[in-house]
Amino acid sequence: MATGEDRTWEDAYRNRWAHDKIVRSTHGVNCTGSCSWKIYVKGGIVTWETQQTDYPRTRWDMPNHEPRGCARRQLQLVPVQRQSREVPAGARPAAQALARGAPATAPVEAWASIVEDDAKRRDYQQVRGLGGFVRSSWDEVNEIVAAANVYTIKKHGPDRVIGFSPIPAMSMVSYAAGSRYLSLIGGVCMSFYDWYCDLPPASPQVWGEQTDVPESADWYNSSFIIAWGSNVPQTRTPDAHFFTEVRYKGAKIVSVTPDYSEVAKLADLWMHPKQGTDAAVAMAMGHVILKEFYFSDKGQRSAYFDDYVRRYTDMPMLVMLKEHTLPGGEVVMVPDRYLRASDFNGKLGQANNPEWKTVAFDEMGKVVLPNGAIGFRWGPDGRADQGQWNLEAKEARHGRR
Ligand code: SF4
Repeated sequence: MATGEDRTWEDAYRNRWAHDKIVRSTHGVNCTGSCSWKIYVKGGIVTWETQQTDYPRTRWDMPNHEPRGCARRQLQLVPVQRQSREVPAGARPAAQALARGAPATAPVEAWASIVEDDAKRRDYQQVRGLGGFVRSSWDEVNEIVAAANVYTIKKHGPDRVIGFSPIPAMSMVSYAAGSRYLSLIGGVCMSFYDWYCDLPPASPQVWGEQTDVPESADWYNSSFIIAWGSNVPQTRTPDAHFFTEVRYKGAKIVSVTPDYSEVAKLADLWMHPKQGTDAAVAMAMGHVILKEFYFSDKGQRSAYFDDYVRRYTDMPMLVMLKEHTLPGGEVVMVPDRYLRASDFNGKLGQANNPEWKTVAFDEMGKVVLPNGAIGFRWGPDGRADQGQWNLEAKEARHGRR
């Protein structure tokens, strides 16, 4: 203060970065990035965040995971601060009606007085999605939810309470709490793909599972990557570095995207089919693969391809063919449904769930019953403990490979 200058204005800057404690957290907003963040808390409110830098090294020849994080997290602070102890304004009549009902049974009756009155019900339903939150308490919010659930169960049955608690991939405790609640009351647990309507269909259709696939770090083990249906730098920001780093090892990358998106700029080859034609592109690729490596007229059938599809896909399963008349009158055969054990009139000896067991040919051309179909999951009477389900490449009846 030699100059006598007033520097109290600097306190505003210091207070901006002051905090009481640092806790660890992530961003639970429809993001499976699960990045680890240092959260600076002041007066019980999140004030700012920085990326954690204490990830363990997973393997000596693999780039480190950190730092993980993206610019979207900056927007996350606002809803966190705003939504604490707030309910949609539209639920306010419910809260008021609940407050008016003093007896112990009152919350459910108060809820009934709203939802059974067309005008009152419209009043809160019409403002859904418009924002406008009002301050509440956890007790009040819990009471509204519980009253609404009890009312629905009494009126329509427990399986009319349908919910999803985010999100198994990143918030195990909240996911477990919500699923257990729904299970205990007899409700229906949905998956996050039901909720977001963004199930990628090709993965479960081809491999029989959903997205239980290697984590993004495995990109670093690739030598050829087709990026299709994902704009990696934008939608998988914290993992995008594995995608770019593997290029230094010589990996070739092809991106399939109609626009010159962020992922296109990282690719060696940018395929840009016209919007809506990507299914045709995929089918054409399948056609070429089958023609050159499976139905090869040049005697070059690929042993690698055979082994791969036999072990990892449902391609060996037999499908029924049916006649189909083309517009010009020509009759062709097209695929129908899978052939099942139940189509063999008991000759495969499957009394238990035969309509859920698919079949294939062995190398001698005889019909076999591979393990792994869903019909093996449960024993008689639906008993899971008597199921014989596994994915070993064996004949289910006698265990031969
Ligand atoms: S990817 Fe971004 S939004 Fe998702 S958890 Fe990481 S920092 Fe948060």
